[in-house]
Amino acid sequence: MQVLKFGGSSVANATNISRVLDIVSKAARKDRVALVCSAISGCTDALLDLARTERGGAERGVMLESLKTRHLDIIRRLFTGAEREAVSAKIEALFGKLAAAPEDEMVTFGELFSTTIIAEKLRCEGFRTKWLDSRILVIKDNTTLTYNNISTAVALEPEVEIFIAPGFIASEYDGKVTTLGRGGSDFSAALYAAATKASRLEIWTDVPGIMTANPKQVPAARTIPEMPYQAALDMASHGAKVLYAPTVQPAMEAGIAIHILNTFEPENPGTVIKAMPEAEIAEWMGVTSVEDTRQEESLLCLVSNGRINGKSACARIEDCLKKAGIRTLTCSSDGINVYASVRLAVAGEALNAIHREFFETAPATTVNLYIAGTGAVGSALTELIRESSDHIAHRSGKVLRIEGYSNKRDFAQMVRKSAPRGSIFVDVTDSEDIWREYEGLLREGLSIVSSNRRALAVPFVDYAAMHAAAQENGVFLRYETTVGSALPMLESIAAGANSSDEILSIEAVVSCTLNRILSEYTLTPCSFAQIVRKAQDEGLTESDPRIDLSGREALRKLLILAREAGVPLEEEDVEIEPVIGPEYAGLPLDEFYARLEADEPRFAALEAAADAAHQRQRFVASLEKDPEGPHGYRASIKVKNVDATHPAYRITGTENAIIIRSAYHPYPLLIQGAGEGARLAAASVLNDILR
Ligand code: ASP
Ligand code: MG
Repeated sequence: MQVLKFGGSSVANATNISRVLDIVSKAARKDRVALVCSAISGCTDALLDLARTERGGAERGVMLESLKTRHLDIIRRLFTGAEREAVSAKIEALFGKLAAAPEDEMVTFGELFSTTIIAEKLRCEGFRTKWLDSRILVIKDNTTLTYNNISTAVALEPEVEIFIAPGFIASEYDGKVTTLGRGGSDFSAALYAAATKASRLEIWTDVPGIMTANPKQVPAARTIPEMPYQAALDMASHGAKVLYAPTVQPAMEAGIAIHILNTFEPENPGTVIKAMPEAEIAEWMGVTSVEDTRQEESLLCLVSNGRINGKSACARIEDCLKKAGIRTLTCSSDGINVYASVRLAVAGEALNAIHREFFETAPATTVNLYIAGTGAVGSALTELIRESSDHIAHRSGKVLRIEGYSNKRDFAQMVRKSAPRGSIFVDVTDSEDIWREYEGLLREGLSIVSSNRRALAVPFVDYAAMHAAAQENGVFLRYETTVGSALPMLESIAAGANSSDEILSIEAVVSCTLNRILSEYTLTPCSFAQIVRKAQDEGLTESDPRIDLSGREALRKLLILAREAGVPLEEEDVEIEPVIGPEYAGLPLDEFYARLEADEPRFAALEAAADAAHQRQRFVASLEKDPEGPHGYRASIKVKNVDATHPAYRITGTENAIIIRSAYHPYPLLIQGAGEGARLAAASVLNDILR
């Protein structure tokens, strides 16, 4: 079964009804049809007027006559001979009943007239038809009973090709005739569709589907090709006239797609309302308005696909209205839609301004992301992208689409084989060997954003090969997060190196773990071993804290920093004075801690010496110009005692700092700030993606 519903303007006159008959006969060749119609346009209003006039008065007579003439004219044009006589007689009889009907039932006659004429016409054209009396079948506010009635009525007539039913009208549970509310024929059609488990529900109207705005107010409005049920419901509930809001529920429950089509342009695919995977839905659906004439205000509603950042959307609305010289009276969001009110007089301009901002801007470029690593940074990143998609699109003109998010070992290979050029591969793993995929990815035209410092602290030849691959393929390799998390350290060094400023020295205090351990050792009475264990318990160290204490992480960071400065530093070029000596290696963790505790007098003595000299111990990775050293620099990683004049003296906890001295700058460049946390790292990765 297919249910086709035609509105008042589709059946307004004989010409339009002929179009309807064409559409219906075509559909009937494919499958059985249930045809639901409104009254001819203006008829319902006329009937309501009629009911308000004085019974037996002259005015009532005139009104009845004019309405009857409209219907008889249609019959005269659609039928000939005996058929014309027969149908006219039927309509005359109905008008007789209307004249005698109680005032509150008069409004129900419009749909009786229209469907009687159309049913007769289809029968004359040779279809096996059956007129269904919605006043008996459709029980207001009782879908179970309604569905039962309709399905039984249809089952009784297996031969019928086209059922014709009046929309809008129904009865109360006690049998009294009633209506489903103004515009209710759409709802009738949805009830017929759900009751007959129809394969499709078509609502035929006089506009090409649901549009991004009312085209009468916003000339640039365009058809929304597909939308989910909820968005259609939201648009209908907040002022879109094209669909009667209650229609959505029965169709949604029965999983029936609703097609909104234009009788006057039947080839136009219009709008399909259906269940949709979120990924396939445009972020913004449309903008509607409802007038509040009492308050002299218009309530605008910007309907989304169901997950938005309300705050940034409100800011965007207020912004674009302000640019149009319109004051936003109120703006709020329920996380799905955004509601703004403006003065009634400027409603049209406001609708156009919002439409321009959200629906007419150049389509944002879509950037496909393939994220390797589902740990803390990966999940913070995916969350960040999801919650700020609107903000990101607004600020950068880019729509980020997470096409892949995986922890699988072979993910990078899969991405290399299948991802389109121009995509970005994001490495937020701490994999030792994923870097071996980098060059291949770059050569396939994918850019890479990485927070994985292991992947950059590889032998210099491999590092250089990655950069060459990026350059030759017009893609980028960015990894600001690998040192000092979100602090712009690499960027600042590269800026200097690119403008041929010569780096004289870099001092980097970039080991969160050691900064934290050393500063806490100064400030608390705990032993060094206790503080290390506490840091481990808090997840601040590697699973084996010796990796941190050995300076291994700091070494990787120093390699990355130096190379950014143009110095092809290798691991073996760096002098490391680890916090603990080689005698700690290979011990079980328990024994390691016991030994560390036993070593407390040594740690205490170092601390006391620093303190006596008004200095503090800081774990510093440094690179200094030295004609004797490899590549003209000396690189070291060690605990340094710094005095109060040194910028690193003041940092505490997991704070990071870097001090860069260069030939052209009379004062050192100091960058200092938070260096730890998944959210921060994710923000920094995102910045590299968008930069
Ligand atoms: N004829 C009714 C009305 O004008 C129902 C409909 O058209 O949907 O409200
Ligand atoms: Mg309607």
